Amino acid sequence: MFSIVSFGIVLVVVSFFYLLVCIDDRNAGCLSTLKKIMTTHLPIAIRAGGKRICGERAVGLVDRIINYICFEANPIVQLIYFACAFGGFYIYVFYGFKHVPNEYLDSYHKVIGTIIMLACYYCYFMACWVSPGHVLKDTHKEQMRRFKFDNILFNKKNNCKTCELEKPARSKHCSMCNVCVEKFDHHCIWLNNCVGLHNYKWFLAFILLHFIITTYGFVVGIYIFKGIIDDKKLIGAQFRNNVTGEIMTADWHFIL
Ligand SMILES: [Zn+2]
Ligand SMILES: [Zn+2]
Repeated sequence: MFSIVSFGIVLVVVSFFYLLVCIDDRNAGCLSTLKKIMTTHLPIAIRAGGKRICGERAVGLVDRIINYICFEANPIVQLIYFACAFGGFYIYVFYGFKHVPNEYLDSYHKVIGTIIMLACYYCYFMACWVSPGHVLKDTHKEQMRRFKFDNILFNKKNNCKTCELEKPARSKHCSMCNVCVEKFDHHCIWLNNCVGLHNYKWFLAFILLHFIITTYGFVVGIYIFKGIIDDKKLIGAQFRNNVTGEIMTADWHFIL
């Protein structure tokens, strides 16, 4: 029963994001209509209902909060990263390390895992902290010379309407940070920072190291579980169902 409910929840969440990201609501068809209802008509109806029930001030406050979370630079997703990265490592150290070494893992895995995790934190910190290369009045001349204009995507005499400076080749204005950024790649909500000329290498190292630590942690985690299952001789152990009184012999499916 529980697994059917979980599957249903996952299905609804995946469908919701599929509609939100992949469907173009300008097209005809039932999925486009569903997206239009979800993203246009429903928010209007909720806002109108909210105004009637809670008043205009309350709705304005909710608008400001949504605007801050979705469209302004803020540290909320950074806090989610801290919770996952530090919480995950805490669980690993306090619940996983005591089972290493075991039949499958040598004790040096504790050192390797810790070093990679610390490298992850360091690259993350640097990617957040290093300025991506803001286009500023003081450094503008030098920044204009850095990359050649290709006269296709990047043309000379193209001023940023907000910064009021001529845009250097390969730069772009970030609406979240409200500044033009050299060699702009994207604004990363995980970093609460743009990825650009000066922090690009830290961003790539951050991605690569997190790929390594998640893969490595997954494999080590499996061997820790396997060690526990072997130690406690769980495969083949007999359990009594307290409700039915039935005696069951554990297999892999039972344990997982
Ligand atoms: Zn700008
Ligand atoms: Zn930005």
